[in-house]
Amino acid sequence: MDRHQEQMMKRSCDTVAMKSVRTKTAGAPARIGAFFNSPAIHALKLQLCEMGRRLWARAYVEGNGGNMAVRVGENLALCTPTLVSKGFMKPEDICLVDFEGRQLAGVKKRTMEILMHLQIMRRQPRALATVHCHPPHATAFAVAGLEPPGCLLPEFEIFIGKVPIAPYRTPGTPEMGRLVAGLAEDHNTILMANHGVVSWSHLGLEDAYFKMEIIEAYCRTVVIARQLGVPLRTFTPAQLRELLAIKRRHGIPDPRLASVKPKI
Ligand SMILES: [Zn+2]
Repeated sequence: MDRHQEQMMKRSCDTVAMKSVRTKTAGAPARIGAFFNSPAIHALKLQLCEMGRRLWARAYVEGNGGNMAVRVGENLALCTPTLVSKGFMKPEDICLVDFEGRQLAGVKKRTMEILMHLQIMRRQPRALATVHCHPPHATAFAVAGLEPPGCLLPEFEIFIGKVPIAPYRTPGTPEMGRLVAGLAEDHNTILMANHGVVSWSHLGLEDAYFKMEIIEAYCRTVVIARQLGVPLRTFTPAQLRELLAIKRRHGIPDPRLASVKPKI
């Protein structure tokens, strides 16, 4: 599915979701059921399964770890189930929750880390989708308490940029979600200390997943480059400014953009 299709899908989901939400979910289980089984939602369930397969194939998740969510209305999200390998999910495993984390539909129990995803979506209205996983090289930085260094590769600067570290809290607690969500305003990818990585995207689920490929490849490259025994070469301030200008055009957040003047 390309980005245009994804945005079309998002709009159609929103239309169905808004109608469902306005009827008050508790009083309208049939409407929720129809929404949950609609073709637009089924396509998103398939996409969640596909992204789960990619996360597992790249060893970004292990056991039943990792979780994802997709916003499908002003107060609704699809999410992955708990205790299921992300590499082997089926569409019927996917859950529907409201923004309080209450499960509205789905036979499997929702991920226990859903609160973090929902808190990001509440705090960052542009977040259409969120992905959380444990890619080893990026997680190594999270375990060491080191933010990945900047100014080394263009793609990382444009699509991600500065990556903060949220302090460690027990996974699934509201406090963990609050600390991560507080960083989501200025950053689309956040390291969770002694845990893993979470990303959000304003374009959709596949783009949130791409952040994981980008940060993991970047952290791996940094670890390897540091073993070569010479200081790493970084971008000059002028080179960085040009990358940030591209970033601004893509509408990707970065606290450093405040100092880059938009082109008139
Ligand atoms: Zn985790």
